[in-house]
Order: sequence, then C-alpha cells, then structure tokens
Amino acid sequence: MKFLFTLRRKTLTFTHFFKTFLLRVFGLFLCGIVFSFSPSFTFSQAINAPNEIERMKTKYGVDNSIADLTPTVCAVSGIRAPKTATANVIERVVDGVNKSFAGRPARKVLIYCGDCIGDVLLQKHPDDFKECLNESDVVVLSTNVMQTVTPVCFATIFSGAGPEVHGIKVYEKPVVKVETLFDVFLEAGKKVAIVSQKGNSIITIFRERNLDYYDFPTDEEAYKKTLLILKENDYDLIVVHDCEYDTIMHQVGTEADKAVEARRTVLKRWLNVVDATDEAWKGFDRLVIFAPDHGSHMPENSSKGVHGMDVRDDAVVNHFYRWRAGRSE
Ligand SMILES: [Zn+2]
Repeated sequence: MKFLFTLRRKTLTFTHFFKTFLLRVFGLFLCGIVFSFSPSFTFSQAINAPNEIERMKTKYGVDNSIADLTPTVCAVSGIRAPKTATANVIERVVDGVNKSFAGRPARKVLIYCGDCIGDVLLQKHPDDFKECLNESDVVVLSTNVMQTVTPVCFATIFSGAGPEVHGIKVYEKPVVKVETLFDVFLEAGKKVAIVSQKGNSIITIFRERNLDYYDFPTDEEAYKKTLLILKENDYDLIVVHDCEYDTIMHQVGTEADKAVEARRTVLKRWLNVVDATDEAWKGFDRLVIFAPDHGSHMPENSSKGVHGMDVRDDAVVNHFYRWRAGRSE
C-alpha cells in the first residue's frame, strides 16, 4: 500500500511536471505569434522612440530639430504648417524676419540641401565655413532622427514631423504621403520646384505633387540649373539637393583630399546661389536656407566615410538661415 502510494505520488509529480512543461511551451508559442504580428516589436520601430525628435534633442543636449525647418518657413511665409507637423517654430528666425520685413511675409524661399555637411565639419574646419557664417543671420544647431540617413532625415525636414509620423524609418525611398512643406505651399498658390541629381532622395520621396521636378546626371548640372531657373522662372519655393560631398566621402573617407574639395564645392555653390537670389529676387522679401540632413564619421579601420548611426557626428547639423528685405528700384 505504502509502495503504491509512493508510486502514485511519483506519477502525480511527473504528470504535473509534464502539464507545466506543455503550458510553458504553449505560452512561448503564443508570445511568438504576438511578437511576430505586433508592429511595436519590429526592428524598425525599436530604433525609433515614440517621439524620436525629442529623444534626439535630449540625448545630444540640442534645443532644435531639423524638423523645425518646415513650421518655421511656413510661419515666416504666412502659410499654415502641414497638419501633422509637430516640430517647433524657431522664434529667433521668425522674430528676425518680422523685424527685417516689417511684418510682411517672405515672398520667395530657396532651401539648399547640402547633403552630409554635419556640425562635425564646422567644428573641425571653421575656416571653410567662415563666409557661410558671415552670410547667415541665424545658425540653428539641430539634431536629426534615427536612422541618420538621407530619406529619413529629409522626410523629417519637409514634413516637420518624426519618422513615426511620416513613415520613413530606414534607407528607403517611398513617396511621402503625409502633408509636407511642398503641399502647403502649393495649396497657397505658390510655384514650387525641386532640383537634384536624378534618383536622389528629395526628388524621389516628394513626387506626385503638382510642382516642377528637374533632375540631372550630376550635382553640378543641378546647381547650374538652379542659377538658370532663378534668372528665367518665377518660382516662389525652390529646393535644391546637392549630394556631392556625401557621394565622395562614402568613396574615399570624410577627410580625403577629394572629399575636402567636394565639401568646399558644396559650400561655394551655396554662396553662389545666395548671390543669385540677391540678384534675381532683389525686389522680393526672401529667405534662403542651407539645410543639411546628417553628418558622417569614419569607422575604425576603414577608409570610407559612413553615417546612419545614433552618434553625434551623424546626428548633429547646422541649418543656416539668411533673409533679406526686397528693394523697389
Ligand atoms: Zn544624406
């Protein structure tokens, strides 16, 4: 009897263990299903905080985001901001413009997107930026968002919202469906153009709008076209994308001779475009911005430059704002 009882206890213990084991396996299986189907567990979500713009500003101790560009340009142009733009208006830009234009809205805007010109370059080579700093009224130190790659950052700049809103979280170039700076300018009856090397991010992700797209085999041709349309057309908003430095530093490294030359070329083109706006738009109250997307860095034991990481050299850039009141002659 005692033997049977012991045997029964052992049997019970084994049954209990087996049931528990089955329940645990089933539990893990259920978790697996939830994990696979819930978007909150996917990799691309995991690298973006619920408010990526604020996370980056806090992490790097910087007051502004590249996303502030869109609400700020809208504010000084007297145009409503895109519906989903959650970024801030840069008050010192708005105050400066209001003072200079005596309360009138900016009539013409040109945004020169110098790809990959990070704050790291300004810190290392202040002499190269001397003229750009002299030409600027306000320089806004800004953080971007993860991933610190071109389409993610420019979607952020021109929507005024983070990746969790505009939807581009990794290096891919779908058409941005949320409202952007381009859409609200078009709604206000403005004439808009994008000028770029063919296939690059801005001219690809902001397609399907009623604006003029000019694309070329090289950045140099895009730059020359910008000078031409300033002279010959009457656009109200021109966005130029210059990838020269980004392309070269990926090939030869951030500080190689060819990259230094490319960096200086981009900055020189921006200054020439500024001169061209002074000539073509002299009768208009105008705003011209140099707006990079991200910086870059050199990984250990590599001869090629990279970006895309959550590190300061990739994540912090400067936006240079410059405005001039129109003169009637
Ligand atoms: Zn870029």
